[in-house]
Amino acid sequence: MAQRPKARCDVVVIGAGYSGLYALHKLRDRMGLDVIGLEAAADVGGTWYWNRYPGARCDIESIHYSYSFDEQLQLDWSWSERYSAQPEILAYLNHVADRFDLRRNYRFGTRVTSMEWDDDAGRWRVDTDDGDEIAARFVVAGTGNVSIPKEPEFAGLESFAGPMYATHAWPHSEPDLTGQRVGIIGTGASGIQAIPKLAERAGHLTVFQRTPNFATPLRNRPSDPEEVAATKANYSAVRAAARNSFLGVPYARAEHSALEVTPEHRRQTYDRGWRTGGFAILVESYTDLLVDEQANDTVAEYTRERIRERVTDPAVAELLCPDDHAFGTKRLPMETGYYETFNRDNVTLVDVKPNPIEAVTPTGLRLTDGTEYELDVLVLATGFDAFTGALTRMGIVGRDGQKLNDVWAAGPVSYLGLMTNGFPNLFTITGPGAAVALYNNPLAIEDHVDLATTVLQHMLDNGHETIEPDAQAQAAWREELNQRAHATLFPRANSWYMGANIPGKPRVVMMYVGAAAEYRATCADVVDDDYRGFDFNRAAPSRTPPCSSRG
Ligand code: NAP
Repeated sequence: MAQRPKARCDVVVIGAGYSGLYALHKLRDRMGLDVIGLEAAADVGGTWYWNRYPGARCDIESIHYSYSFDEQLQLDWSWSERYSAQPEILAYLNHVADRFDLRRNYRFGTRVTSMEWDDDAGRWRVDTDDGDEIAARFVVAGTGNVSIPKEPEFAGLESFAGPMYATHAWPHSEPDLTGQRVGIIGTGASGIQAIPKLAERAGHLTVFQRTPNFATPLRNRPSDPEEVAATKANYSAVRAAARNSFLGVPYARAEHSALEVTPEHRRQTYDRGWRTGGFAILVESYTDLLVDEQANDTVAEYTRERIRERVTDPAVAELLCPDDHAFGTKRLPMETGYYETFNRDNVTLVDVKPNPIEAVTPTGLRLTDGTEYELDVLVLATGFDAFTGALTRMGIVGRDGQKLNDVWAAGPVSYLGLMTNGFPNLFTITGPGAAVALYNNPLAIEDHVDLATTVLQHMLDNGHETIEPDAQAQAAWREELNQRAHATLFPRANSWYMGANIPGKPRVVMMYVGAAAEYRATCADVVDDDYRGFDFNRAAPSRTPPCSSRG
């Protein structure tokens, strides 16, 4: 492999999704720093580059699931649907890259293979699979929370004779499934979006379900020009309202406990949420759905009733009704015609909970009891090594040779989800411990990039060389994450929120459970209180050469 010349820069930004693109723009164009972007994919888009399976679309309304940092950008761009499909979101991110001329700083098709902090130089040495070696004073990792797939656990996977597709890496040219016997494993948000579309295209679709999920109707429709005009006339107020709402979407605020109202009141409320679609039923209905099991039971049972109404075969309906977790404590998928899909003649639901998949065979799947399913095509929608997967695969070595993987062996630790003690000048955008999974991602990302760049500007203004959180602040943040989460029903579910979807992964609270406004207030308070909890110059290098151009 031809070795490229060693490069130097102020900041390496990893990733060209929502996080990386905004970070690169802000660092380069607003702060005047020398930035190199690294991206494993051939182009921009992040999750929306890779997840191009049939049915992939956002489930936060597009007018909210978009950048707010540039007024003219949000006024100029128009979404064709209430919830845009993957191609339109990817087109948007391409538009952003073009508009702000972001591609020129990126090296695409380049994956970080290792990153080592050099205390003497006060630099990260970043190595890539292209043979790049970059010395950077700061690294901003915009590597995403659900970007690295879960390793498939099925024996014999390589023996399958037909094509195998994964939702997280769907081919760029759409496979022709006409007349094919297709099997899909996984009924999370990806599977629930893909299954109705695959059923329309396949000869026969067999859905291998281990655990049913609560899913609520998406209620997608073309954008309403009047609504769009009203939003655009008032976009900054809309964004402020979003940032002050749970989930980062300006849903109406719930006011009552589900247990202080009558069954009729609950029925009307849940009907309204069900008709509205999206997260409305979870967020707008009652204050205690995520903290009180009895309250949660009311919305869980309401949802099971809707499932039973929509699925004609009662036995199939029962299989689709979740009973192992509280409503909304696993990431709620949104559906369009999902339940009716199981009324089709060409769709079979197979419960692999009592009878797990034993092996993939050359001709299909075999279950533990020996039942074989013949398949032409196999689709995996088996999820992600969430929160930590991308960061623990980059070979990150911090101060004194500490490996991030060792420091995080019992679960990730961080301060504000932004930095980890022992890893100076490394910013993890919406990293583990940040407000992200319960916060509309583009806004969560903007907030976190803004926090990182505020810290960075402070360092530049004050001549600081390094920053990292102190161990006490980090321990206190872990405690806060635990306390917040354990005051809710979230930790009880076997979800990727808890790392529970990956065999052997430590089961810990991986995210900030709370409203975005509270998290943002905490971050603002830290900044105002002279960057409380951060150590500056702890790992100060003996000599830090000035940043120069590459070469
Ligand atoms: P997921 O929610 O983790 O679902 C993975 C599915 O695969 C589950 O049904 C799981 O069953 C099944 N599975 C995994 N290993 C299995 C095994 N060995 N045998 C049988 N079944 C197995 O993953 P996802 O659907 O890709 O969604 C992940 C997240 O990505 C979402 O929660 C969401 O945040 C994001 N996403 C968002 C959208 C959107 O609309 N914006 C769309 C797609 C994804 P068990 O539950 O039994 O483990």
